[in-house]
Amino acid sequence: MDGRAAVIGGAGITGLFTSLYLSLAGMDVTVYDRSDICSGTSGRFHGMLHSGARYAVNDPVSARECITENMRLRREAWRFIDDTGGYFVALDGEDEEYGDSLRKACAEAGIEAQEMDPEELLRREAYLSREVRRALLVPDAVIHGFEFCAAVAMEARMAGGCSSASSTASGGWPVGTGRWRWRARRAGTGTVWWSTPPGPTACPY
Ligand SMILES: Cc1cc2nc3c(=O)[nH]c(=O)nc-3n(C[C@H](O)[C@H](O)[C@H](O)COP(=O)(O)OP(=O)(O)OC[C@H]3O[C@@H](n4cnc5c(N)ncnc54)[C@H](O)[C@@H]3O)c2cc1C
Repeated sequence: MDGRAAVIGGAGITGLFTSLYLSLAGMDVTVYDRSDICSGTSGRFHGMLHSGARYAVNDPVSARECITENMRLRREAWRFIDDTGGYFVALDGEDEEYGDSLRKACAEAGIEAQEMDPEELLRREAYLSREVRRALLVPDAVIHGFEFCAAVAMEARMAGGCSSASSTASGGWPVGTGRWRWRARRAGTGTVWWSTPPGPTACPY
C-alpha cells in the first residue's frame, strides 16, 4: 500500500473493477455495497456480451467500443463466456435489404457478420420462427455475470482490496487537497464508520 485510500460505493461490475485497478495501483481500497456484491444490475442483466452489431448502423463509435471490449473479454475472461454467437434475422415480409446495410456497417466497425443459410439456422435453433428469410451471425456471446463479478472481487481482494456487504455508503466529501472524508453504515449491526477503514472482519470476500 502506498498510503493513498479509496472508498467505492457499490459492488457491481463497475465498482469491483475500479477496486481491482486501484488495488493493483497500490491504493488501500474499500468497496461498500448496501446489499451484496453483484446484487444490482450486474447480477440481474440479460447476460449478453454485445458484439456491437446492434449499434453498428446508428452508433458506429459505440459499436467499435463494444467489439473492442468483446474481444478483450474473450481473451482475458474466457472462462466466464459461452461463445453462442448471436443472430440478426429478417422474417417473411420484413426488409431483407437491411441486412446489406448492417453487414457494411459491421465491417466498418470491425465486427464480423456472417451470412447464414436460413435452413441451416433452423436446424441449429429449433425454436426460431419458420418464417426466417435472411440471417446474419455476429460475435455476440453469453457472459456469466455473477461468476465474473465474484472473480473480479476475489482478484481485488488478493490485490489487497476489501468488499463489505450490507453497508450503505452515504456520503463522501473533500476535507483538504486530495483528501476525502466518507461515511458508511452497516445494516443489522447499525455500525457507522466515519473515515475509518472497517478492518478485516468486515471484508468477507
Ligand atoms: C434489464 C437490464 C438488462 C441488461 N442487459 C445487459 C446485457 O445483456 N449486456 C450488457 O452488457 N449490459 C446489460 N445491461 C447493463 C448492465 O447490466 C449494467 O450496465 C451494469 O450491470 C452496471 O453495473 P454497475 O456496477 O455500474 O451497477 P450495478 O450492478 O447496479 O451496481 C451498483 C451497486 O451499488 C449498490 N449501491 C447503490 N447505492 C449504494 C450506496 N449508497 N451504498 C452502497 N452501495 C450502493 C447497489 O446495491 C448495487 O449493487 C442491462 C441492464 C438492465 C437494467
